[in-house]
Amino acid sequence: MTPEVRGLPLVAQAEGVARGTWKSRDLVEAYLDRIARLDKRIGAFLLVDAEGARRAADSIDRKVAAGEAVGPLGGVPVGLKDIFVTRGIETTAGSKILKGFIPPYESTATARLAAAGAVRLGKLNMDEFAMGSSNENSAFFPVHNPWDLGRVPGGSSGGAAAAVAASLCAGTLGTDTGGSIRQPAALCGVVGIKPTYGRVSRYGVIAFASSLDHPGPFGRTVEDAAALLEVVAGHDPMDSTSIPQPAGRYRAASKTGIAGMRLGVPKEYFQAGMDPEVEAAVRAALDELGRAGATLLPVSLPHTEYAIATYYLICTAGASSNLARYDGVRYGHRTAEAHSLEELYGKTRGEGFGAEPKRRIVLGTYVLRAGYYEAYYGKALRVRRLIANDFAAAFAEVDALVAPVSPTPAFKLGERLSDPLQMYLGDIYTVAPPLAGVPALSQCCGFTKSGLPIGLQTIGPALGEEAVFRVAGAYEARTDWHRRLPEDPA
Ligand code: GLN
Repeated sequence: MTPEVRGLPLVAQAEGVARGTWKSRDLVEAYLDRIARLDKRIGAFLLVDAEGARRAADSIDRKVAAGEAVGPLGGVPVGLKDIFVTRGIETTAGSKILKGFIPPYESTATARLAAAGAVRLGKLNMDEFAMGSSNENSAFFPVHNPWDLGRVPGGSSGGAAAAVAASLCAGTLGTDTGGSIRQPAALCGVVGIKPTYGRVSRYGVIAFASSLDHPGPFGRTVEDAAALLEVVAGHDPMDSTSIPQPAGRYRAASKTGIAGMRLGVPKEYFQAGMDPEVEAAVRAALDELGRAGATLLPVSLPHTEYAIATYYLICTAGASSNLARYDGVRYGHRTAEAHSLEELYGKTRGEGFGAEPKRRIVLGTYVLRAGYYEAYYGKALRVRRLIANDFAAAFAEVDALVAPVSPTPAFKLGERLSDPLQMYLGDIYTVAPPLAGVPALSQCCGFTKSGLPIGLQTIGPALGEEAVFRVAGAYEARTDWHRRLPEDPA
């Protein structure tokens, strides 16, 4: 039997494979067919590994036929943001400078997905080195939002969010440094969670800003995201910042309900400038959580106004040092002709990096410069601590925080390209949780009159993913937004 994969949750796909209702190969063929028909219009995939996916699916199907266990994600086709290094498969991080880079090793998160039986369909489009909020910084081509092809899917994991929204795969992995999982999840109407810093290994995840980079999953439903996180989370000795704790029981938490939970509503997350339809949808979602049995309480995160400045100082400093390794000697692109080492570096980097990484390298080098370090980077680190303290104080009073994700729904392609500052300001509600390292999830809580998804953000205390999944699962159980699907592009 060939299942209709459009809108079919990942956990249902895994159950169908395990029960023999359908074959993993059938799922793979159904998605490959959708990708071939629809992705020209969406642009989610940078690389499709059809033969690799077929081989992996057939091997799962042989195991099922032989009565062997295939793992919790057995046979489920997934996509990977092209920031995860994949052994033998080109990995570019959305940049020309890594064009042609074939990694000799595999990231921990993607290795764990494969060990759990997931089948890799390919690599997903993204903003270059995960720098951006619209996916327009991809060095290759932009991604179109499946709900309105003239609009951005969000970024930097735009391909990962759009692929799930358009049913081009069952689930995906992305990364979130300042919002890159939650904001595209919101703009595309799917579920995305940035876990606690260190919960998912960064080993084999191409670095942007190491103290802020958080790998995490996208799913169609809360349970799908939970199932993916259960597989990829947990201690990894290959990442020295990995938390030495096992993954939690997120699927179970998503079904526990929220009776008696205390939810904080941060007043700084409802500011002038927010789109009125976004505000109305988020406020209606808070009312729904109240009806589900939670108590809603006003709270304050007083240093929120400094979060964007702090984030853009710390992430650019991280970028300038992490991107120093692309020198034309070790990876990817090398300039055709150079007469000295300095010229080799200069021309390679000049040709290989796009405008946004260059902007961040310049800014990051400046804030780390001797003489300026204390005024900029050192100060940003101190403010980062105050922002983390805000969250700690709030979580002494409440179990989780509920807020918007993005102040606006998906904007038009090109609309913010000429004004990087305006693009950065759109990250107002997503940059603080990664600065504090706390988990945060985005899910759909409504649509604008013109049919664009709106996101609800649930933020938990450090290591409090279960609280986040309880809230998200309870909200989803009482609403139908997650069942709406975008029309397939003609
Ligand atoms: N939009 C933010 C930026 O451009 C966040 C990106 C991210 O989370 N990787 O840096």
